Amino acid sequence: MSSQAAASWWERRYWEDVDVAVAGAGIVGLLTAIRIRERKPNYRIVVLDRDPLALGASSRNAGFACFGSITELLDDIGEEGWDAALELAVRRYEGFQALRNICGDAAIGLNLCGSREVFLPGEEGRYREALQLMPELNSALASITGEEATFCAADASQLAMNVLSESLVNRCEGILETDMLLRRLRNLATAQGIELYGGFEMGLHERSGQGFRIRCGRHELNARLLVYCTNAFTPQFFPDLPIVPARGQVLVTTPLAQTLPNEAFFYDRGYTYFRPVFGNRLLMGGFRNKDFSAEETYSLDPGGTVWQELMRFTTAVVLPGQTWEVAYSWAGTMAMGAERSPVICATEPGVVVCARMSGMGVALSAKVSQEATELLLQQVY
Ligand SMILES: Cc1cc2nc3c(=O)[nH]c(=O)nc-3n(C[C@H](O)[C@H](O)[C@H](O)COP(=O)(O)OP(=O)(O)OC[C@H]3O[C@@H](n4cnc5c(N)ncnc54)[C@H](O)[C@@H]3O)c2cc1C
Repeated sequence: MSSQAAASWWERRYWEDVDVAVAGAGIVGLLTAIRIRERKPNYRIVVLDRDPLALGASSRNAGFACFGSITELLDDIGEEGWDAALELAVRRYEGFQALRNICGDAAIGLNLCGSREVFLPGEEGRYREALQLMPELNSALASITGEEATFCAADASQLAMNVLSESLVNRCEGILETDMLLRRLRNLATAQGIELYGGFEMGLHERSGQGFRIRCGRHELNARLLVYCTNAFTPQFFPDLPIVPARGQVLVTTPLAQTLPNEAFFYDRGYTYFRPVFGNRLLMGGFRNKDFSAEETYSLDPGGTVWQELMRFTTAVVLPGQTWEVAYSWAGTMAMGAERSPVICATEPGVVVCARMSGMGVALSAKVSQEATELLLQQVY
């Protein structure tokens, strides 16, 4: 069977009258399609992905619905200043709430357990520095989260872990089930007449009449408007955008004998994270900061210094004295850049990019998809 068979009359017509083509069926692509549908009930909207499901970060993440631990916010403030750091945290928080409204908590397995930032013995100074920032952060966030104290100090001595007995809790965060989130968004999209196509590896678009032509193998799609929600993979279409890949490595343990706390955990500016998953297993990920340059890769194979660090930390800090093995391991590709905020821009009339979600796309997705939709629809005359 030839994969290059000439397109039939019907196949050509099939792809002819698309109003919006969304590239990428990750959470941002799906939500962008859903947002466009809210505004344009009669548009033909298609979402195209090279993978039958998605193959970026959305199906391979850790499922934290988070907007920042204190040391991460400290880091953001150091890099970008107080106003920009706070604006990004608020954007994430609002995105998280919008995601809940769109999906419903139960449908995505949301567990509003809060998150706990832990510190290691010897890191008392780091803890105190974070603690000092807490009142200012709480008062800045109070009108956003509705909580007088979004963050609070919490005793960690009951945890069977090698961590300081002082820790910091963010009461407004939680964890969700990544597979349920994807399924929910795909179901919402198809229920609204949005068409999802996997196995559609998009080539570069060209202008054609009032819209654009995109080739994929023997198929040729014509769309009036394009939105690229291809996150780390966006440079293949727009090499000048400041976006680089960042590998995130993850492991899930075999079931553990000792019951894990029902909490989400962060360590060291959010670079390291762990949580329980179904069957009393630990999901453990991060440590990209141990070798930034090696992790600036599209490779999906876990390994290197980061992998060794994940194994060491799991044994020495999180599960000391417990018997465990790696049951599953994988990597996913995040998108980073010198700035921490997402890239949302029109690259030419009718073409919008919504990418570079850093490690916070779950929280940001419902917010940035709305911003991208506004920008796209401004291009419609
Ligand atoms: C290990 C790991 C852990 C993470 N943990 C968290 C977390 O706990 N909380 C959180 O908020 N965020 C987390 N993130 C980040 C989060 O998952 C991302 O920010 C988010 O999923 C980005 O969504 P997206 O839709 O923008 O991009 P992606 O999910 O990357 O989607 C981009 C899509 O574009 C498709 N594509 C690429 N090229 C083409 C092409 N030529 N044609 C068609 N399709 C194409 C890809 O197949 C892919 O499906 C984590 C990421 C990783 C890797």
